Amino acid sequence: MYKQMTEVNTAFANWLATHPDLNKATSKIFQDFSSQRFPSAIVNQTIREVKSQTKHQKTKQFRKQWCCFNNQNWKVERKGDFYTVSFPTLEKRIGVPVVTRTYQAAWLDRLLDGTVKQGAAKLYKKRKKWYFAITITFEVEPRKETKAMGVDLGLRYIAVASVGTKSLFFKSNQCAFVRRRYAALRRRLGKAKKLHAVRKIGDKESRWMKGVNHKISRQIVNFALANGVGVIRMEELTGIRKRATSAKEAGRSLHSWAFHQLQTMIAYKAEMAGIRVEWVNPTYTSQTCKCGHREKANRNGIHFQCKKCGYTIHADLNGAINIAKAISGLSAEPSALVTGAPPIGVHLNPMGRGDDTPPNLGVVRTRNG
Ligand SMILES: [Zn+2]
Repeated sequence: MYKQMTEVNTAFANWLATHPDLNKATSKIFQDFSSQRFPSAIVNQTIREVKSQTKHQKTKQFRKQWCCFNNQNWKVERKGDFYTVSFPTLEKRIGVPVVTRTYQAAWLDRLLDGTVKQGAAKLYKKRKKWYFAITITFEVEPRKETKAMGVDLGLRYIAVASVGTKSLFFKSNQCAFVRRRYAALRRRLGKAKKLHAVRKIGDKESRWMKGVNHKISRQIVNFALANGVGVIRMEELTGIRKRATSAKEAGRSLHSWAFHQLQTMIAYKAEMAGIRVEWVNPTYTSQTCKCGHREKANRNGIHFQCKKCGYTIHADLNGAINIAKAISGLSAEPSALVTGAPPIGVHLNPMGRGDDTPPNLGVVRTRNG
């Protein structure tokens, strides 16, 4: 039924995108499209979505328009030791048991006790499973601490964080190794014209990298919290690619999307903890000594040695320290990075199965479907 709902909604969105009265559309317009029953709650959200899509870009064709529900049209409930979400469907409003991870259950509890506000939700399918993506909003108490932490991202060390005299290193050896292995596999498959396989490997690699970035960003934010940090500073991303000695090296190592993803994750996790995030101008952060002397030759790979005063330090740590101090100033432009956490995607589990979910993640299992 979810599949059918998505198909109807997609066809409706495409029909609506070229409709001359789009701007005046109400949920009644669906009757002109089709005589079948379809929840007006979804129709309203689709009208909103199509309006904004056609306004901001020239989208005239939707490949897929998932069914969305505004905050008043879905509900989460707790039934014993599991949760259900209910929303309108083609037949009636249904309550579906969901599989939740521990952190998701914690957010659902906060929805139930009213400490976070409920936003819109989306019914979507990913890798053969149906999910219900939930958005929430809540106030964060800004931290009173003023200590700044710098986070330097690089090719040899994915991330180095520095606050005061403390630092945290994430070496990228393993990442680089895995990425090279995937790249080689992709090349082989690409030569053999196995394009579907190439894309599948790309997806697998992205999921792997996303998992790594989640872990690193969590550790960085926890490190900040443990050290009384009130602001995390990071470089504006344009500097990352330039730092590779050649375009080839940059391409083979971590791609810039992976850095962008890591920065986004650090940013939203920090903001959720009340830590401010600032973006600094990356110019000279890697070449400047604490004595103030700046010279390109100060840095040689991971080694930093000042040509003037002789001070030596790990080059990436030096970068992180300079970022914390924002030696080249804060970025003039507000960052294009979108902060804010992604929605919570709980797996809809009407069949009462959840067996393929890893067992060590605090899965809430359903009883009798
Ligand atoms: Zn110096």
